[in-house]
Amino acid sequence: MTTALVDTRLLQRPDPAARLKLGASLRYAYSTFSTYRDLFEGVGVGYDDLSQNDPIAVLERLPIISANTLAKVSEESLMVIDGIVDMETSSGTTGVRKKRFISSEDDRNDHDFMAELFRVAGITAQDRVACLDTDPVYLMVSFARALDLLGADEAYVYSVGRDQGQTLDALVRLDPTAIFAVPSMFERCWPPLRRLYDEAGRGSISKVVFLGERVPYQLRAELESQHDIEVFSYYGAAETSSLGIECSVHTGIHLYTDRNLFELRPSERDGSDGQLVVTSLVQKTVPLVRYALGDEIVLIPGDCLCGLLPPRVDVLGRAGDSFSILGSKFHYDSLLRSAYRKLDEVGYMQVVLTTEVQDVLTVLLPDQRRSHEKNMKDSLLSDQLELEFLVASKLASLRFEYVDESYFTGSRKMKLVDDRRKGVAP
Ligand SMILES: [Zn+2]
Repeated sequence: MTTALVDTRLLQRPDPAARLKLGASLRYAYSTFSTYRDLFEGVGVGYDDLSQNDPIAVLERLPIISANTLAKVSEESLMVIDGIVDMETSSGTTGVRKKRFISSEDDRNDHDFMAELFRVAGITAQDRVACLDTDPVYLMVSFARALDLLGADEAYVYSVGRDQGQTLDALVRLDPTAIFAVPSMFERCWPPLRRLYDEAGRGSISKVVFLGERVPYQLRAELESQHDIEVFSYYGAAETSSLGIECSVHTGIHLYTDRNLFELRPSERDGSDGQLVVTSLVQKTVPLVRYALGDEIVLIPGDCLCGLLPPRVDVLGRAGDSFSILGSKFHYDSLLRSAYRKLDEVGYMQVVLTTEVQDVLTVLLPDQRRSHEKNMKDSLLSDQLELEFLVASKLASLRFEYVDESYFTGSRKMKLVDDRRKGVAP
């Protein structure tokens, strides 16, 4: 699916080097992928335009692409790119399963770049870094590899099981100096971890690098002011790999414009300067051309004291993808990941919230997932402890319902979270 031309604005000064890189990327996308060729020609952009005209002007004529188009490019990459070594799957925030195949060249590039970002977050050769993940470890393997490249003293993926009291014991013995984690997982582990540290009378954690979700303000404030732990936000997506990181000045995330070209398109959301649109300049396996990543962005004006170039941003996350039940906050992404954890792929899902005697969370899935209900329910509840608590104490109900897959594929603007509770702001 493509959308019509809209007013976007470029987040960087289009200097000659950027124009050169962009021109090469657009020509590469056009000549390698028929999906892109068709799209470009659909708006009257041919190879001559790409080789003769200003690439920024050409870019502005191209349509903004969605996850569905990117999925086609991704499938095509299997046939046209040699040496694919890895595949990243994201939880599909737009309800569509996303895959990104990675060639060995992209893979090496990605990890070198991640190592560079982690250096900006103050990780050094003296650090012992624990990357927290759930079982099976997956997301974090990439981070541990980049930390190895950086030369960190220790870098490992630490799997946090359901029984945190037991599984965190070993983490206390490993005594990491830095932790990489998704905020919601860190929040689960932090209270027991802190107790164990108090009992052991030690604990060397001085940095936490968060990824995947926006860092709750209170968590950041608590870590910084009460525990003297420096907090960093890493920013990336499965489709794009790394996009940027927060530096030690802690005034927003630096986006790296030498690897991606960033645009903002208008957003309706209060407080947002726009939604991020990404064109990749380095990624070869599945290049992005005006891909609507959809994250709501706030631009931070001025230069950063650290000396890195603008743009600097605050990432608000995607609209309409989180909700709370009795004060417990849930993220669609995280629920989707949990529900599909034991299956070999991530598929469609909608969350519907209603009120009967208490709040009811209905997980709406395609018919063919019906036989997996037990698996999906188990992983959902074992990952989402607050949800398990609400359900076990009968403060909320969890239901599974099934619909034809066309429900998900036919509707262009299906809400990921449909909150039908009375008195809850949309
Ligand atoms: Zn900075």
